[in-house]
Amino acid sequence: MSIYPQLADYHMHTPLCRHAEGWPVDLAARAVELGLAEIGFSDHSPMPSDGFDDWRMSLSDLPRYLEEVEKARAAFPQLPIRLGMEVDWLKGGEAWLDQLAGCAEWDYLIGSVHYVGEWNFDSPYAPHRQRWSDFGVEAAWDHYWALFADCARSKRFEILGHADLIKKFGHRPEGDLRRWYVPAVEALRESGAAFEINTAGLFKDVQEMYPAEEFVRLACEAGVPLTINSDAHAPGEVGRAFPEAEAMARRCGYTETVRFVRRARHAVPL
Ligand code: ZN
Ligand code: FE
Ligand code: FE
Ligand code: ZN
Repeated sequence: MSIYPQLADYHMHTPLCRHAEGWPVDLAARAVELGLAEIGFSDHSPMPSDGFDDWRMSLSDLPRYLEEVEKARAAFPQLPIRLGMEVDWLKGGEAWLDQLAGCAEWDYLIGSVHYVGEWNFDSPYAPHRQRWSDFGVEAAWDHYWALFADCARSKRFEILGHADLIKKFGHRPEGDLRRWYVPAVEALRESGAAFEINTAGLFKDVQEMYPAEEFVRLACEAGVPLTINSDAHAPGEVGRAFPEAEAMARRCGYTETVRFVRRARHAVPL
């Protein structure tokens, strides 16, 4: 029996990024088991030079990525499978983004902020985690949300990835967080891009969805389109905590989510 007949999962990784397990065919099998309506792959996009970091596909693996998604489509013809990528928003990276956008028939691109300058703030590894103390929580939040707004306003993405990722390890300033959330939602509204409730945060130190419920409520008031995604890095994570995410979306006023085909958006009732 299908428990998620109206939901899609658009944020899923593959072993090509070197920190995920399960090929598209394995993730698709899990999606079929759960009864998801649709899925999409969004592995970490390559950079022009493979030494940029060690947690993304190399440029030479891009054809393999497309092949593996095709294999999943062939194995599960009853399941619509979309092709996307999770692309890093980096200052001055626009020319590369434009090149990547022309590399395949993408259904959507997710724009994500994982770097504040050279600092990969969501890395669990010591050299990166130590930088929290140099930076300070307020300053890190300021930088992160400024980049998030730039990423949205670039109009290069259909979906903004895991808003609020900066809270991953529980670093959160005192007081009302709407001083960051309101401008971020305004940037989303202006850009016309969608965002995601990304359930992966529930399983990180912060133990909360990305973004906070308050952000989702503001986004709904502003009419920002919604997707609900797992950020699966293994087959067992596909559709993870979707009932909770759906409940949150409804509490915040959402009655539909959006899907993408060849970078065109359509809405589906929740
Ligand atoms: Zn990842
Ligand atoms: Fe990410
Ligand atoms: Fe991801
Ligand atoms: Zn992600």
